[in-house]
Amino acid sequence: MSELWITLNDIPEEGKDLVFDDQSFWTETMKDCNVDAEIAAPLITEVFILPQDNGCLVRGKTSGAIKLVCDRCTADYKQNISTEFEEFEQVADAEDTEPSPVVKTKEGLKFELGALLWEHFVLALPIKPLCSNGCQGLCDKCGADLNKDGCACKKEEGDPRLAVFRNLKIKN
Ligand SMILES: [Zn+2]
Ligand SMILES: [Zn+2]
Repeated sequence: MSELWITLNDIPEEGKDLVFDDQSFWTETMKDCNVDAEIAAPLITEVFILPQDNGCLVRGKTSGAIKLVCDRCTADYKQNISTEFEEFEQVADAEDTEPSPVVKTKEGLKFELGALLWEHFVLALPIKPLCSNGCQGLCDKCGADLNKDGCACKKEEGDPRLAVFRNLKIKN
């Protein structure tokens, strides 16, 4: 995946606001991670970085929109993305099993922001993508898009809420 390295020595003690608007970070990472989506409105990340001993505090948000495929009607739709995050990251110590995004180099501490942006982007994705909460989906018999014209088979099925009564056996 794409990486975004920040040299913490370049950030003043009182912190600094940064904006990341390079869309290739998102398009390349989506490709690498097999996320099948296109950008519908630029994904912009604004972060505030505050250097700390051995690491930094990072607070920010990513917003924009991507094109997803609706799980019910299979149409493309625009999914707004908006995610906020706040993390404290520091150089891994001997006990840490996970690698840290903050590493010590000859030029001082460097922080890799890309993985964190991606992690929060993925968390902001819907578990079940829907073009709208009320999407009617496709007819399971003829495949017609029920958001548009509906179809003939719908009438035959009747009101699904009444199906339970149709199966009742009447005792004589
Ligand atoms: Zn839909
Ligand atoms: Zn139908």
